[in-house]
Amino acid sequence: MIQTIRGFRDILPEDTVLWQAIEKTASNLFEDFGFQEIRIPIMEKTELFARSIGETTDIVEKEMYTFPDRKGDKLTLRPEATASVVRSYIQHNMGSSDPVQKLYTIGPMFRRERPQKGRYRQFYQINAEVFGISSPYIDAQLILILNELFKRLGLSELDAHINSLGCRECRPDFQKELLIFLNGKKEHLCENCLRRMDKNPLRTLDCKVPSCREALVDAPSTLGHLCSGCSDHFETVKSVLKEQSVDFTVDKTLVRGLDYYSRTTFEILTTALGAQSAVAGGGRYDALIKELDGPETYGIGFAIGLDRLADIVAQMINDIKMKKAENTDRPEGTEDIPKNASDFFRLVSVKSPDLFIIPLGEKAARLAYMWSSELNIARIRTETDYSGRSLKSLMKRADKLNAAYVLIAGDQEIEDNALVLRDMKTKEQYFVTAENPVEQIETLLNRV
Ligand code: AMP
Repeated sequence: MIQTIRGFRDILPEDTVLWQAIEKTASNLFEDFGFQEIRIPIMEKTELFARSIGETTDIVEKEMYTFPDRKGDKLTLRPEATASVVRSYIQHNMGSSDPVQKLYTIGPMFRRERPQKGRYRQFYQINAEVFGISSPYIDAQLILILNELFKRLGLSELDAHINSLGCRECRPDFQKELLIFLNGKKEHLCENCLRRMDKNPLRTLDCKVPSCREALVDAPSTLGHLCSGCSDHFETVKSVLKEQSVDFTVDKTLVRGLDYYSRTTFEILTTALGAQSAVAGGGRYDALIKELDGPETYGIGFAIGLDRLADIVAQMINDIKMKKAENTDRPEGTEDIPKNASDFFRLVSVKSPDLFIIPLGEKAARLAYMWSSELNIARIRTETDYSGRSLKSLMKRADKLNAAYVLIAGDQEIEDNALVLRDMKTKEQYFVTAENPVEQIETLLNRV
């Protein structure tokens, strides 16, 4: 049997309900904030990622799926979306109509990391990117949007870590000081850090090797070296977040794994899935557009890990169900749906058929087919079954699917023009005729 490649997986129908609901909630939210969707290719020229993410990052050094195509061009499956969105912004000269562009995109990314729970080689991200705004208000607003998304999904605790990485003005001084510090700690640093430190000392702050982490606890931080522009910018981001009651922690170790960031960077951390991991991350990348041969324009964005977000939301829904099961006296439909999340819960609720048609006989099977097609076209969820099994076993199937009504149609009933329709909740039975299914069923479902 052929199976999926390691680190790749199927998202099965029982999960896609949740994924679609999250995606819809996110896209509605983005649209509320004036974002438009962009769809970008899954494959790009390798150079795009090498130049933007940075040659000395984990992603570019070890994780990209890169291969020559049949003509020898070097191609890469996208490991992230920002570089492609920036390429698109430049290629289509989007800034010429309005330098401010707010874009979002949802789709798969590819990184050859070691697979484990919450980490895949094909994973999905929800991305937002804003071009043309230098104001710190947009930095704060992106974090506010993440906060609001969490609320609309019914999640409460958003742990936002924020930092400022400085800019082209103040970073060189900081890097010099960091390099002096690193030179004094050489014997404790891993091979990777030793190799990268001269070219890109900031990367060492991102190293996960325990001995490096320990050696770097007292490392100088960017926050101590911000120029007045960067410092004012960061102060405004913090004060606005405070005023809007968005919780955050300043984390001077947060440098993120990509080179293009400047000024504000942020990550949303969670312990909901066991060990602490990031469910979203982002930041400002004011120099990137120019570096990719575009105009001098500001940029900022974030990426949410959809696989992890879906796990967290699934866990929350489970917790709510468990609570409800413990409290059995409560009437149905009164689970503790968190404030602001009712739209999401409506999207995620299991959609069972309005009607299940049980045909008993040859003529009945044809009627079941005609009726169900007509009803489906009229947006009435109808299922049927052509297997020819007994009434009893098909009633069982209707029960399992949780159908609201069952229509029992035998050849004789069709001849007599009197089919039995049963309300599965009240057990009441009605007779309906063999014509005009849409009208009759709609009336019953109180749709007209
Ligand atoms: P990054 O682009 O590395 O900042 O990642 C943004 C978010 O994508 C992270 O916070 C994770 O939630 C998610 N993510 C990154 N890599 C993976 C992966 N290999 N598998 C699943 N999710 C990932």
